[in-house]
Amino acid sequence: MTDLPTILMAYEDTLKILQENFPEDVYLNASTDLKTTARHENLMVELFQFSYVNLEAFSERFKIKPSLIYLTNELKFSAEGGHDHGFFFIKIPKHLILRLFELIDPNEWVMKLDLDYVKLNLNFLANNFLTLQGMMKESVNKFVFFHEKCHMIHRRKLKDEKGILGLNLDSHDKSKFSIFLHCLELNADQYATYELLDNLVTFYIHKYYKATRDRKGVRLILICVLSSVFVLFTLLFKKRIEKAFYTDQGSHPHPVIRILEVSKTVVSELNNSLPYVFQTFEEIEPFDYKDIFEECLFVTSQITSKEVGFDIKNEFFDILNAKETEINSYLKLMEDYSKTESVLFRRGEF
Ligand SMILES: [Zn+2]
Repeated sequence: MTDLPTILMAYEDTLKILQENFPEDVYLNASTDLKTTARHENLMVELFQFSYVNLEAFSERFKIKPSLIYLTNELKFSAEGGHDHGFFFIKIPKHLILRLFELIDPNEWVMKLDLDYVKLNLNFLANNFLTLQGMMKESVNKFVFFHEKCHMIHRRKLKDEKGILGLNLDSHDKSKFSIFLHCLELNADQYATYELLDNLVTFYIHKYYKATRDRKGVRLILICVLSSVFVLFTLLFKKRIEKAFYTDQGSHPHPVIRILEVSKTVVSELNNSLPYVFQTFEEIEPFDYKDIFEECLFVTSQITSKEVGFDIKNEFFDILNAKETEINSYLKLMEDYSKTESVLFRRGEF
């Protein structure tokens, strides 16, 4: 499924399934085409194409009806992976994707970084010219998709292991703290991070390093990809900034904790598989967690400060310094709880 007419037809088919099987408001909220501003048009099509193909494999594995992926016109930031009217589905508000694109797209923030970013030659990565921003938009798209896909896995496992389909997720009062829901969110971030890393290594690092042997360039690519996810969390942070930092509220972990966990996973995973990442048995110096992490926060603050009205790097370290003990005991609580929860995704399982 690569040519444009086929992709557009698959989207039409998805809309038809929504129209025939779901209540009218679901269909009316769905975006009827993949078009957006000319600037981003291909990325929306690519997001759908990538997700559609990926979900075909998911449906086949579980022997279920085709899982649906569609975009909505809702003016909100929360995507959803669920099960309804006999179908697994992922819906992503166009609004979220477009806000992310609008933040990442301008060149001004790139100019504030050092010259190496500007000079980074990404032509090795794609048939078409790929920009830094294009790579980041593609990456954050995939992260959003994989996070929601993991929630579908959660629902499927709930059904297999506890005989209920999604019930446990929907019946929670979202305004109250729930270890279970926090744990599912961190788990979905973890799954999305593994999948994104897989993509990062296969589509970017292998190709780039093979063509250039440029280790410094690999670091920059990694930072940009990871920063694109930080941009997403910073937008979510903005929504929560009125509230004080918390570890015991609501359905989602605080964005600062999500940033922390995702970056820890990325760096440790890469360092654990350096010979594979660089396709060599030569000695490769491991990535430095602090270096990657701080640079990502710097890049993210260049992209987001004007929009969100605060500097994510400062905010982040203010919280981390003040709440380190609280964060550590929260993470320990989550870790212990996750050992007992059978519906979580486990590494190597999917
Ligand atoms: Zn989630």
